[in-house]
Amino acid sequence: MTEPIEVGTDIVSWCTKCKLILDHTLVALADGLPKKVKCKTCKGHHNYRDKAPAARVPGTGRKVKKTDYEVAMSRLGESYDFSTAKKYSMKGKFKVDQVIDHASFGIGFIVLSLDTKIEALFVDGPKRLVQNR
Ligand SMILES: [Zn+2]
Repeated sequence: MTEPIEVGTDIVSWCTKCKLILDHTLVALADGLPKKVKCKTCKGHHNYRDKAPAARVPGTGRKVKKTDYEVAMSRLGESYDFSTAKKYSMKGKFKVDQVIDHASFGIGFIVLSLDTKIEALFVDGPKRLVQNR
């Protein structure tokens, strides 16, 4: 039998402010389950979350915002020479964050690289492509 949890005990929770899994103090219960916690790091009160919010997985239907592409572009800086971007080819092998030059989609950024698949972010949104063929 496990000890019932009580207000005031230490609990590990996702901190919505620190954006980290951190030590918290339980401040409120609901139906015997942790409800509200206080972060020991930032002292903020927020709802208890046992884990980090689900990471956004590329290609699962989320709409890529134009800003995602712009952020990726700006990371390269103004001095980036796009003529050095690797030309996309099915036979190529690409890695995450690599800049590619696709014949129809234009300049893209690799966001996911699996064995024979890649996902790249283009100005029109993410595209799944093959690699290593
Ligand atoms: Zn915090």
